Amino acid sequence: MIVTVASFKGGVGKTTTAVHLAAYLQQKAPTLLVDGDQNRSASTWAEGDKLSFKVVTEAQAPKYIRQYEHVVIDTQARPEQKDLEALADGCDLLILPTTPKALDLDALLRTVDVLSALGANFKVLLTIVPPLPSRSGEEARKLLVAAGLPVFEGEIKRLVAFERAPLMGVVVNDYPDQRAQSGWEGYEAVGKEILA
Ligand code: ADP
Repeated sequence: MIVTVASFKGGVGKTTTAVHLAAYLQQKAPTLLVDGDQNRSASTWAEGDKLSFKVVTEAQAPKYIRQYEHVVIDTQARPEQKDLEALADGCDLLILPTTPKALDLDALLRTVDVLSALGANFKVLLTIVPPLPSRSGEEARKLLVAAGLPVFEGEIKRLVAFERAPLMGVVVNDYPDQRAQSGWEGYEAVGKEILA
């Protein structure tokens, strides 16, 4: 399974999603994370050698890719429209994380038409969803579904552990905080949907 994670805005949890999905998939079969983002956030995250899977740059990918059952690709943020076709063509599933914020949703909705037109296999993931009593996650989901977009049933809550885990070089599953577990369960649910 080759999964690509792309976003039309920065700060929507693209790298966090790539890293956590790679950690989930690695529990099932050997998984490689290809860091294609110039910020190299995933590579920095992996520097302490505490992640359970291998992280390589795009330049290294050709050598490693054959040895792995699953590949997760973290891409450059804000792809040009013309890059989208290649991104979608280069994977089995294109994951588009978005927060429920109006501006993030707007950026997604404006760009996603192209993917629909291409017949690309893509799915939207709601991330950094604030806790109740905020209803923004629910409202965003309704809006996306009404726009005819495929949306993962699983979603990722806004949790401090997601901000801290990279500083320790771990995923939230290995972060010592009770609430971190529910963040991991979110990515587990999404991982199951991917492999279903
Ligand atoms: P992108 O790759 O889209 O720029 P990142 O994955 O780097 O996004 O996340 C942007 C910021 O939001 C980072 O500081 C990250 O730790 C934080 N973050 C990501 N997901 C969550 C979450 N579910 N809850 C809280 N903070 C999050």
